[in-house]
Amino acid sequence: MKPSSISNSSASLLDNFRNPEIARRLLGEIRSRETQATLMEVCGTHTMALFATGVRQGLPEHIHLASGPGCPVCVTPLKSMESAIGLACRKDTVLFCFGDMLKVPGVSDTLESARANRGARVRIMYSPLDALEFARNEPRTDVVLFGVGFETTIPLFASVVQRAAAHRITNLYLLTAFKLIPPAVDALLSSGDIRIDGFILPGHVSSIIGEGAYSFIAERYHVPGVIAGFEAVDLLEGILLLLDMISRREPAIKNQYARFVSPRGNQRAQDLIASVFTECDSTWRGLGEIRNSGVRLTGEFSRFDADALIDFEIGAVSEPAGCSCGEVLAGKRTPTECALFRSACTPAHPVGPCMVSREGACAAHYYYGGR
Ligand code: SF4
Ligand code: SF4
Repeated sequence: MKPSSISNSSASLLDNFRNPEIARRLLGEIRSRETQATLMEVCGTHTMALFATGVRQGLPEHIHLASGPGCPVCVTPLKSMESAIGLACRKDTVLFCFGDMLKVPGVSDTLESARANRGARVRIMYSPLDALEFARNEPRTDVVLFGVGFETTIPLFASVVQRAAAHRITNLYLLTAFKLIPPAVDALLSSGDIRIDGFILPGHVSSIIGEGAYSFIAERYHVPGVIAGFEAVDLLEGILLLLDMISRREPAIKNQYARFVSPRGNQRAQDLIASVFTECDSTWRGLGEIRNSGVRLTGEFSRFDADALIDFEIGAVSEPAGCSCGEVLAGKRTPTECALFRSACTPAHPVGPCMVSREGACAAHYYYGGR
């Protein structure tokens, strides 16, 4: 069966992409190919979906999957965690963050342990709007919004900052640790010390930035990429498209997820980001500093920058001894090759960030026991 045989216009669209019969036939096609390949799934949701759908377990031995740097929790650097913990411990300050961030290790504390032991005021938010609402109701409290995530979540934060400006709210601040996916993929490829034959590109991020944002992967590095959805058939179609391009040595960027991703992405969301933020160099946990891979507040919105509140020293920081998250995020090691995996490091007691979020590669391997 050719991947293109699945209609994107059918009323029972989702059923098609979950259809076990179609999935079996695609898997059979993949198994019949002899192309050896290492494919990187950039996105943490793909890491989980590949396990949860059984696609990963069904692939033949000569197709290897490597997890990439696409879980926002995993790539938030120690320095940002230390800033968040320090701000949450500050008098008359409340820090709002997504629940996943609570257990991410800082140097000696997590936000959760700082809350239990040092009186840090930390609130879990379901949307950045929660922090805006709180700031409006508690004008004497400095409210810090911990801005973590990729192109998918950045527009939400941009809209909250715009609203805060429109309502003249002066006690809301944004601690930015946002990351951009294409520069990270570029950095991995230009490092020259990994061998990736094809990329499974993130579905949600791509719905914002569009397929054109990845053209450099094929043009400059001659590596194919497929933007894929999250159902079994999406993943299998994506892998088959990649194998075809690899075996024909015709790299291109293909869009398997056309039901949500357009060539140019979501222009409104891109404009929203550009109106509040500007690109900046950013440090990725495990990967180091990557040029133009983050965003910071710009222009009139700079006054919302939480850096202005940081009046404490953040000393030298180093990753926990023995943790291989950097190599896992760069696709150089599998989680099971880390000496701490399942022994010193478990989801209940994570040593590194990749074991914290369910979308982290180490947590996914822990829960699903992958190879
Ligand atoms: S935000 Fe998007 S890219 Fe990141 S893990 Fe979730 S789905 Fe993947
Ligand atoms: S198993 Fe734990 S210590 Fe090892 S790389 Fe993963 S998160 Fe880091």
